[in-house]
Amino acid sequence: MVSLCDTYWHEIGELSTRTLEDLPDCLLETIFSKVVLCEGDKAIVNLAVVCKRFSAIVLDEDFLKKVHYEWLDSVVNLKSFSTEYQKELKKMYTIRLCNACGQPYKAFSGGCIGHGKKGELLGIYDEPPHPGYCSHSCAPPDLDDTQDV
Ligand SMILES: [Zn+2]
Repeated sequence: MVSLCDTYWHEIGELSTRTLEDLPDCLLETIFSKVVLCEGDKAIVNLAVVCKRFSAIVLDEDFLKKVHYEWLDSVVNLKSFSTEYQKELKKMYTIRLCNACGQPYKAFSGGCIGHGKKGELLGIYDEPPHPGYCSHSCAPPDLDDTQDV
């Protein structure tokens, strides 16, 4: 079966006459996933503010999951673990809003933690450092005190 992207690549010779708007979504998804792997999660935010079309692509749940698992493959060799442990590592994050600043952030419930940049792993099975908050600076001081004990 020939995909839309395969068809497009056969027409690559005509690329000089095309604009970005002419590219099919599947090709933009492929390009954006590479950009996100190189630049990390900040690329998702940057691409999402370009236009509604880009936003729809990069904020799509399937795209986010695909990119997350591509990132995961770049930081952990899942095949070296048991099938059961692979399932535990291969958990998708959820997007939540910070209790303090209201900005969206990645909330992990196990699995691998990182900023989505290829080859960069922050940790495996770390407890979220500040549950409900996007960062250390947004977390209330008493929350930090209880975690140090
Ligand atoms: Zn915050």
